[in-house]
Amino acid sequence: MIDKNAVTCVACHHTEHTFVANIGAETPTPTLPLQGRGQRTMMRCNHCGLIFVVPLWTDSIATNVFANYDGWPGGISGGAADRQESMRFIAQQIISQKPTGGRLLDVGCANGAFFEVMRHQSQPKTAWQFYGAEPDPKWQGLAYPDVKITPQPLRQCHFPNDFFDVITILDALYYIPEPDKELAEIARILKPNGLFVFDVPGQVYLRLRGGIGCMLGLQRTRPFTTYPFYFSRQSLNFLLEQAGLEIIEVAVGRGARQPEPMVRLLVSAYINLAKIMSKLFRNLPPLIAPMPVYNVKRKM
Ligand SMILES: [Zn+2]
Repeated sequence: MIDKNAVTCVACHHTEHTFVANIGAETPTPTLPLQGRGQRTMMRCNHCGLIFVVPLWTDSIATNVFANYDGWPGGISGGAADRQESMRFIAQQIISQKPTGGRLLDVGCANGAFFEVMRHQSQPKTAWQFYGAEPDPKWQGLAYPDVKITPQPLRQCHFPNDFFDVITILDALYYIPEPDKELAEIARILKPNGLFVFDVPGQVYLRLRGGIGCMLGLQRTRPFTTYPFYFSRQSLNFLLEQAGLEIIEVAVGRGARQPEPMVRLLVSAYINLAKIMSKLFRNLPPLIAPMPVYNVKRKM
């Protein structure tokens, strides 16, 4: 039996949590990858709002999951979602801030699709040297031929200090064990004037989408049940602050393309509204965007 009160929040280190959801074999579905692997519980930190799975998502659990896909078709690190539009948006943001290129590391890079998007949008095409870290072995055979991907978690790659001009974690931060240590590693290997970009689903949007999905009978949109971590704005602030990182700007990102035309239409309308609102109120994107895109730098 897990003593849920004994778990310490990885972002703010408080120990008081509130129950959010049970995930278990009683509601099996292949589209909620954490299901079917025994009972898990999602909790919300009372102090910073981080939602996390217990037992806590650790390096050994993640490694085991990546190595054993039985019962989890497609694995947990995606591949099915269409993120092209999202990636193009992020690539444009990076290139506008780093027009001369440099070394770019994508953490959780899957098959390296983002490198292709970057290459396509850059002038000259050779402006960037791409590095990938991807611990999920299923991507090894699927990577683009001229991309160098290290098949390990980032902290086992041992990159030099102050090495990268740009580091990205796209639609993947929620799968990384010990995000506090991961962000500290990013601060170490990012150049002092480097750029760190990540996108993660927003909690408000997920709640909204879950409500609408429930009305449409979509189990896939059930909120706070798919990933090991759901970051609130405050929990991200804590994590970035501790790592010596600070937010430059947060943009309204779209996330993956919705497969259902009806849902896609609703999401597009919502995004347009979120963009207008965000122009009026600059603090809104991390709260209301489907996938807020965080542009981050090292603290001086
Ligand atoms: Zn917390």
